[in-house]
Amino acid sequence: MVFKCQTDSFLKEFETEVVKVEKNEEGKSLVQFEDTVLFPEGGGQPTDHGKIILKRDEGKEIEFDVKNVIRKGPDAIHYIESTDTDVFLKVGDKVKQIVDWERRHDNMQQHSAQHLISGLFEIHYKYPTRAWWLGADVSYIELDAKNITDNEMKHIECMVNVYIASATPVHVLMFDTADATGEEVTRAAKGLPVDLSGPVRVINIEGIESNMCCGTHVSNLAQLQMVKLLNIEKTKGKTIVKFLAGNRVFKKLETSFQREVQLTAMLNNGPDSHIDLVKKLQTNLKSSQKTLQKLSKELATKIAEELNAKTNLENYFSLHNKDGVDVDFSNTFLRVLKSKSLFVFMTIADAIDSKSGSLIIQGNPKDIEALADPICKLLNGKGNGKNNRFNAKVTQLNKVKDCEILIKNHFANKKISDQV
Ligand SMILES: [Zn+2]
Repeated sequence: MVFKCQTDSFLKEFETEVVKVEKNEEGKSLVQFEDTVLFPEGGGQPTDHGKIILKRDEGKEIEFDVKNVIRKGPDAIHYIESTDTDVFLKVGDKVKQIVDWERRHDNMQQHSAQHLISGLFEIHYKYPTRAWWLGADVSYIELDAKNITDNEMKHIECMVNVYIASATPVHVLMFDTADATGEEVTRAAKGLPVDLSGPVRVINIEGIESNMCCGTHVSNLAQLQMVKLLNIEKTKGKTIVKFLAGNRVFKKLETSFQREVQLTAMLNNGPDSHIDLVKKLQTNLKSSQKTLQKLSKELATKIAEELNAKTNLENYFSLHNKDGVDVDFSNTFLRVLKSKSLFVFMTIADAIDSKSGSLIIQGNPKDIEALADPICKLLNGKGNGKNNRFNAKVTQLNKVKDCEILIKNHFANKKISDQV
């Protein structure tokens, strides 16, 4: 079987017949039709999506989704999605195939744009294309070039759009592999899949290039509307050129513009000042963080020094911070605090979720051994300790008061047992 329908990229609907049905291990139906309008993944182009409409005798129409079509030798295998396990396709069923046109049209625009960009880089700079990728958002071409300059990018982008504006025709040429000697076929045959049989299909952009390709293409470059080369990425002696074609350029412009409108409102100034304003904000934030760090260290030192000066120190000390202070506060406090046997119960809430945060316990290892587990249970936390320190991540900081009662009781009982 040869996909004769694919020579016409614009065919959206097609009537055909089921010729083979198989089930795979996952119970999915793998169906072959007499011919197909749904493009199977290949040549860098993703599979078409679409629908199969089956008309049963009683006039009822049953719809099946197709999200994957693969090529196996000369056959196109359709993965049929059906939520109803009682309904399935069988050999001889007459069906209608419908292409998800929005997806197909987008694929055609990206694929033809790739041929055009590749052809022009080859003609003007002798950078051959090694591979390409049609991405969900952005596509790219991998060129055999160590570097591509900004001027080269601008030049090719300009040329691409000149050919689009000139409405250059794109032809689909079919050659028989057996008797073909044409330059296109000889050039193209190098890239032929080993299991391919039948005629060879060549895509010709008039006056620019010819290339063997099984993909779907526009019939005229004007249908690309516009191509935008985005940026380059260098990788192991090759250069990747990212691009957008057709509707993707408009979608990108729309999202970028909407983002710009929001930023203008947030920054209270126009797009020309956005970069400078964000840089200023970043500098201010850095300096505020520095001030906060300094103040937080000073506060921790002050609290610890007050405790150091106390002559009648309690057995334990609790400190709870709800404002998501940084780690400098707790580290400074514990460093300045002289008494290493004082039981310190410290919690710090996260800035976003006030119930979650961190727990730090410091004190006599025996007290830690007795209290760490029950405290962690109350605060729903997990942690570990070494010598006179225990750290944990907790998610129930609303139970801090219960922990304090637990600690109070522990030391009260200890006092009694010491007296006994
Ligand atoms: Zn191609």
